Amino acid sequence: MTASSESTPPLVACFPGTDEVVWEGTVATETQVAGAVSNARAALTSWQTSPVEERIAVAERFADAAIQRQDQIAQQISRETGKPHWEAVGEAKLIPAKVKLAIEAYRERSGPQQIDLPQGIGRVVYRGVGVMAVLGPFNFPAHLPNGHIVPALIAGNTVVFKPSEMTPGTGELLVQLWQAAGLPPGVLQAVQGDGKVGATLVSQAIDGVLFTGSYSAGCAIHRSLAGRPQVLLALEMGGNNPMVVHQAKDLDAAAYLTAVSAFVTAGQRCTCARRLVLVDGADTEPLLERLTAHCQTLRIGLPDDDPEPFMGPLISSLAADRVLSAQAEWLRGGAVELVAAERDPRNPALIRPGLIDVTAMPDRNDEEVFGPLLQVVRVADFDAAIDEANRTAYGLSASLLSDDRELFDRFRTFIRAGVVNWNQATIGASGRLPFGGLGASGNHRPSGYFAADYCSDAAAMLESESLSMPATIMPGIDAAPA
Ligand code: NAD
Repeated sequence: MTASSESTPPLVACFPGTDEVVWEGTVATETQVAGAVSNARAALTSWQTSPVEERIAVAERFADAAIQRQDQIAQQISRETGKPHWEAVGEAKLIPAKVKLAIEAYRERSGPQQIDLPQGIGRVVYRGVGVMAVLGPFNFPAHLPNGHIVPALIAGNTVVFKPSEMTPGTGELLVQLWQAAGLPPGVLQAVQGDGKVGATLVSQAIDGVLFTGSYSAGCAIHRSLAGRPQVLLALEMGGNNPMVVHQAKDLDAAAYLTAVSAFVTAGQRCTCARRLVLVDGADTEPLLERLTAHCQTLRIGLPDDDPEPFMGPLISSLAADRVLSAQAEWLRGGAVELVAAERDPRNPALIRPGLIDVTAMPDRNDEEVFGPLLQVVRVADFDAAIDEANRTAYGLSASLLSDDRELFDRFRTFIRAGVVNWNQATIGASGRLPFGGLGASGNHRPSGYFAADYCSDAAAMLESESLSMPATIMPGIDAAPA
């Protein structure tokens, strides 16, 4: 069924790995998508020209509503993604926190600027781009779309938001909170459905696309915008992120940070460590022993388990199949199993994390395996470690665990990534910093604190209070021809 068939097929979200329905609705038709874009266009002028303090006041009321309904939001996130409650609550808390940061970022990066110039006053004035399409991923169904929507609305854009088809209920809840906060009609609307609905939305008369998701979907959107350079495109895509460990004294800390980097959110974060690069030495085996123990002992389970798990199921049993078949392919290709990722009998989407030594594999591919599976690559020295870490077309996050500052200086100079951490997990990120990737991970429009930049157009203004003849007249033209 396509978005253009004009029927309204049902859209159902289930708890991962089960047929327990956690949200029911319908897929938006092409007419409904077009209607949402036309409503957003109609609402644009009045929202864009409203005083920014009014827009900020609505955003603050939305933040208050998100605080009041934190448990409901966390519950919906957990039901749709299978995240443990502690993690779903953590995501729900990021919603109001993002509002505070987005207001700060708007004032700092998009506030009016004025300079004195020989020919008058020069001013930079930031204005909303227009009607923005926001396309969200499933893995942070509230936090990541929110990271586009909040700065876009504050900057005076109107938004048509398509949540992931796996997490429509969380998306719907976000929009309801904005409406309850007094957002005028048409300023933010949700359209539900899969990638086809997303493609339909991108094909409309929009002014920008703010996308978070996979490289393949990002490329499809990029291709579909060919010949429309006026449409702003901000892509936050995947990663094949390296964690390099060398000369780290505290092996417990190194193993803990590596396990967290690789396996939190069941390995379904764009910043998860996918490749552990080790400079071979006396510490290698003790570190791998600790990591093996983490793989075997960290608690996996379902959100309602008591005690609660560290990680829950993947988004679907199909997603678990993909992880297990990547592992099988590596093992066929010469990789060595340190701990095999295995399906848990309780739920087909739930898998125990795996640790696979791929050093002996001659042709390691560069795909993002979106799950709890960590590759180990052993190299001879630190230069080889940096080369190995950079052996990816992606460039999202990279970490070095080491007590040697000189090594980090080399690492940050040569590593190709947008998020570069030292003695921190690869998932370590701050909302006060830019967040985005190089290479196949993005298109040079970082989000996070810098989302303010792609949510506004900068207009340059040269102004003189009064009209008078310039001091110098150009050759070949009279100041006042007879
Ligand atoms: P996805 O690419 O499958 O889907 C993302 C969104 O795009 C969904 O709403 C989907 O319906 C829509 N979509 C898919 N194809 C489309 C098309 N042709 N046109 C328009 N819209 C389309 O991603 P996912 O599986 O939901 O999320 C996981 C991926 O997202 C991973 O690759 C992960 O690394 C990446 N991710 C990146 C970041 C980041 O900030 N860089 C953050 C989180 C997730």
